[in-house]
Amino acid sequence: MKREKKTFLEELQQAKAGRYAVGAFNIFNYLSASAVVQAAAELDVPVILQTSVVTVKEFGPAKLGAMLRLIAEEASVNVLIHLDHCQDIELAKACVDAGWDSVMYDGSRLSLEENIAGCREVVKYAHSRGVDVEGEFGRIVGVEDAVKVSAEDASLAGLEDSIYFVRESGIDAYAPAIGTAHGVYIGTPTINFNLVAELKTAVEAPVVIHGGTGLSEETFRRLIRNGGAKVNVSTAIKHAYLDTCKAYFTEFPDKLDPVGFDRYLTRAIRATAREHMEIFTKDRI
Ligand SMILES: [Zn+2]
Repeated sequence: MKREKKTFLEELQQAKAGRYAVGAFNIFNYLSASAVVQAAAELDVPVILQTSVVTVKEFGPAKLGAMLRLIAEEASVNVLIHLDHCQDIELAKACVDAGWDSVMYDGSRLSLEENIAGCREVVKYAHSRGVDVEGEFGRIVGVEDAVKVSAEDASLAGLEDSIYFVRESGIDAYAPAIGTAHGVYIGTPTINFNLVAELKTAVEAPVVIHGGTGLSEETFRRLIRNGGAKVNVSTAIKHAYLDTCKAYFTEFPDKLDPVGFDRYLTRAIRATAREHMEIFTKDRI
């Protein structure tokens, strides 16, 4: 099926204007990527396949990029390939060269000026090749594969610094630390909804919400109504994958049917992704 191929930035701008968010799901193999795309196709919504640095290194950028592009080309909806939390400028450039649609440069552990300098280098390289860039300011607490931030090291973004960071770095999408966390929440998080709302008009770059696993439906919808245009979901997909493996082997300890097993797993991941996408598009206008 031929369809218009929008860029990462175009999809996020459209989502921001339309009061919905594009789901960005961290996938780690063919099955997980394919299941997420099936969910998007069922709902006829665009989707972002997000790869952690650990996954990219496991496959190598060329092989992973080729596999994901194939899945994207066959899909009936727009599928974008995104690199998540990359602290290594050379690896971000390698993904740009290997066909990623967008890359996140994570300089949030650095000083504001060093973060900006890193973003600018990635932006310069990526933009000249038609690839978009996401940047982070403040530090999002928790563990996202190889990126670990303790509660003492976490810090929230403010409005003035955010405006300065987005302007000076030249990034296309902005991930402010707003109080959401990577991994699993212990207790109810305190989230700076106002910052998201202020950023909607203060900066052109659409806002990205990290730490999407475990937030309530109301929290998601409030963040999206306030301007969150991309929501990252990683832990929920990992759980769907591994918990379903465990459940399968408990239920069918003696079955010798790997294709049936893959289908069972695919259904579970597809359902988890779909539940999130339904929430992300509920208040669409
Ligand atoms: Zn993140």
